[in-house]
Amino acid sequence: MEATYGLLIDYEYCSGCQSCEVTCKEGHGYPVGKWGIRVLEEGPWEIEDGSGVFNYNYIPVPTDLCDLCSVRTAGGREPLCVHHCLANVITYGPIEELAHKAAGKGKQVLWVPQYKPLEAKGAFVPTKASNSEGREVAAVEVEANSTWSTAAHRRSDDDHFELGLVE
Ligand code: SF4
Ligand code: SF4
Repeated sequence: MEATYGLLIDYEYCSGCQSCEVTCKEGHGYPVGKWGIRVLEEGPWEIEDGSGVFNYNYIPVPTDLCDLCSVRTAGGREPLCVHHCLANVITYGPIEELAHKAAGKGKQVLWVPQYKPLEAKGAFVPTKASNSEGREVAAVEVEANSTWSTAAHRRSDDDHFELGLVE
């Protein structure tokens, strides 16, 4: 499947606050030890000895569990990490548009998703599910096939999340 949407990450302005990590994890209900995005810290180290010029960057990196907030974006809302980043580091949009924007400035990374549970199915499949109170909520279903041995199911309203090997 050809990816059409992605994230442009202008990490020059990333403060390392980790709000994107937390909102993504909470919003998706990912359990302990699983993340949709991580903020990496590189540095500080001096580029030339005695120069006083340092390499020191925070770089947010989406993981293979980033689904580009498919439930939100299917409803016309921006991804959680975009919404909650006060430094406006992350932009969501069509990859071609983002690539054009990336050309205009340094210290940016264009990220194209490879959501592994999604890859198993080949497409995001927004669907409907019922929560424990019988209320209908948005959901995403993905199924395994011969390409990937993982499957996932998640809903928008609570911390329900399952990810595991299938037979
Ligand atoms: S991308 Fe934004 S929300 Fe995430 S750590 Fe950097 S400044 Fe904070
Ligand atoms: S787009 Fe959504 S799933 Fe991907 S890193 Fe941002 S908050 Fe997480």
